[in-house]
Amino acid sequence: MEQPSDFRSDTVTKPTPKMRQAMAEAEVGDDVIGFDPTVQKLEALAAQTMGKEAGLFCPSGTMANSIAVKAWTHELQEVIVEARSHIYNLESTHMTFISRVTPRPVPSVRGAMDPAEVERAVRKPNVHTPETSLICVENTHNNWGGAVLPLENLKGLRAVADRHGLRLHIDGARIYNASTASGVPVIDYARQADSVMFCLSKGLSAPIGSMLVGPKDFIDYGRRIRKALGGGMRQVGVIAAAGLIALTEMTGRLGDDHRRAKTLARGIAAFPGVKIDPVPVETNIIIFGFEHPKF
Ligand SMILES: *Cc1c(COP(=O)(O)O)cnc(C)c1O
Repeated sequence: MEQPSDFRSDTVTKPTPKMRQAMAEAEVGDDVIGFDPTVQKLEALAAQTMGKEAGLFCPSGTMANSIAVKAWTHELQEVIVEARSHIYNLESTHMTFISRVTPRPVPSVRGAMDPAEVERAVRKPNVHTPETSLICVENTHNNWGGAVLPLENLKGLRAVADRHGLRLHIDGARIYNASTASGVPVIDYARQADSVMFCLSKGLSAPIGSMLVGPKDFIDYGRRIRKALGGGMRQVGVIAAAGLIALTEMTGRLGDDHRRAKTLARGIAAFPGVKIDPVPVETNIIIFGFEHPKF
């Protein structure tokens, strides 16, 4: 019998048999003191794949985003975020709790903030206001139905960042989904950013883990922040081994998920009483509601 597809979330993926095999056979060491060869291999591959100097293996995407914000900012500063973004809505309160900076939400159409509007949100130097230091974008954008951020939009935001001396971080938890849908190589998205976070644990099927990539001094500092947050892990090559397979063998199959999601969306839309966003499903997230007097 064919296996049913589970569309509750792309976090319900499980490690493949090949991942479990690689985990069983992984060469390991103490990664906190910097001697796990499998983690080192994964960090180097992640950095190279995204065209960045260095990579950091993190227990979760939330921790990797927290480290990025902490490393790019300091107190009395503000971070521009998209109003419906994961980093603003779904990662508890790490901007204020860990980095002690305030988020400045900017609305968007399908995740793509208008660069001119972002530029207007950049604070002018003034003793009364926080100082803008970072822009965070999300690609794909989950709460906008897995929408892909156009490369041109990212370039526009990069130009704003450059004009005002700001950093640009991509929450690219699902950046491989974006790349699969748009045909834009992940390295082209990453080129527009100072740092990128991406998840190995979503559609790429690794059981645990996210990567943060960026310049070497940023990652060196990020490693110290990770330790302070309790994210230093010892013989973690056992998990990184699955991550290596996620990165080398699983990115090519995301198109299957996207095709299945489109089929499912068409099926759901045909039911009476279902309200589904008329914009086509771009990746593998389907957002729909019910038309019922009680709702
Ligand atoms: C899943 C996800 C994260 C966070 O990842 P966790 O590993 O669940 O902490 C961050 N941003 C986006 C857009 C995500 O989809």
